[in-house]
Amino acid sequence: DETASQMQALIAEAAAERRAVQPRANKPHYDVLIVGAGFAGSVMAERLARDGGKKVLVIDRRPHIAGNAYDLPNEDGILYHLYGPHIFHTNSEEIFAYLSRFTKWRPYEHRVLASVRDKLVPMPINRTTLNRLYGLDLQTDAEAEAFLESRAEPVDEIRTSADVVVSKVGRELYETFFQGYTRKQWGMDPSELDKSVTSRVPTRTNTDDRYFTDQFQAMPLDGFTRMFEAMLDHPNIELRLGVEWEDVRREVMYDKLVFTGPIDEYFGYRYGKLPYRSLQFRHETLDTEQFQPVAVVNYPAESVPYTRITEYKYLTGQTAPKTSITYEYPSAEGDPYYPIPRPENQALFKRYEALALAEPDVVFVGRLATYRYYNMDQVVGQALATYRRMKAAEDEQREA
Ligand code: FAD
Repeated sequence: DETASQMQALIAEAAAERRAVQPRANKPHYDVLIVGAGFAGSVMAERLARDGGKKVLVIDRRPHIAGNAYDLPNEDGILYHLYGPHIFHTNSEEIFAYLSRFTKWRPYEHRVLASVRDKLVPMPINRTTLNRLYGLDLQTDAEAEAFLESRAEPVDEIRTSADVVVSKVGRELYETFFQGYTRKQWGMDPSELDKSVTSRVPTRTNTDDRYFTDQFQAMPLDGFTRMFEAMLDHPNIELRLGVEWEDVRREVMYDKLVFTGPIDEYFGYRYGKLPYRSLQFRHETLDTEQFQPVAVVNYPAESVPYTRITEYKYLTGQTAPKTSITYEYPSAEGDPYYPIPRPENQALFKRYEALALAEPDVVFVGRLATYRYYNMDQVVGQALATYRRMKAAEDEQREA
């Protein structure tokens, strides 16, 4: 009869519930699981644990913390950056103050020279670059400006990365400094790339030869990895390295997920892969005290297979009889480093973003999850803002 079948339904429901709960009981529970121990994941972990009192598990598939900013000493004790040179700079006092809780700083202003026509000249192009390259004696900003204007070629509508430069400095300087470099770096001609790529590089008429003009320019005194260790050093934070999210998600329980890996990977590449440009690094230790006159020398010529060489002692201030350097070879294959800025790729990202917005209890933070080339300070800013939003939403829920 009806009561008996109702009874049976209740029993079946209870059994199902037990089955569902039973395996959970054996699994460790965390308030938040964070995938990725780079800037995005580590800032989120620090805030959630220290400010929010949450129990957090941070995982990374790499065997180390710090993501792409990871640095380590080589056999001779000289620091180098495993994923290429990372130079910290920001205009945000808030971001600088936040990171200053976890490290002391070494003031460092970055300088880059470009190797062109057997000369080393400042990059970005400035008055010194023009004087050295053309044997000129331009004395003032106005003179340099007039010189560039005489070379600039008017472009009706600035669409591509080539347009940006040609319209400002003319075809010859464009070819010397940008065309080959960009072709190597992106595997594409600047005329095929969004204008954002070369818009980032200024042209100067003064003699300022600093690469960045941000208000705060400094390197963590003991390196990035030490800074991350301090950030993640909290009793509410547990760390598991060398593990995949796919595996960990089955082994632990969590209420919320912070995902800082590639957004297309999270959704099983269901719309296809988001295109990235990669790099291969060749790290070397040389038996000489100093290899080159500044931290980074660019090689724009297409006849040279690498794009730049970095000597780390300039960044770290270390003194030693040997020196550590890194060559960068752009490549199509390898770790995802630079999202390729083309409109169709943004459109593909937007489709993944729509899925992400509909995903309950998951937040996507960082350069891979938002498919954007972000500097370190921008990722820190994004993570701090994301934490504030999470906290506000929780406060609202509690009040309701
Ligand atoms: P990441 O540092 O990449 O961290 C994401 C982490 O998630 C990775 O460690 C990854 O292993 C892990 N992960 C992903 N998926 C999974 C998964 N499924 N399971 C487990 N773990 C996973 N910025 C500057 O400000 N100055 C610079 O000079 C500078 N130089 C750069 C040079 C190069 C060559 C590159 C590529 C970038 C540079 N950047 C620089 C940018 C800087 O690297 C990024 O802003 C920063 O690393 C972003 O941090 P993130 O946490 O978003 O990503």
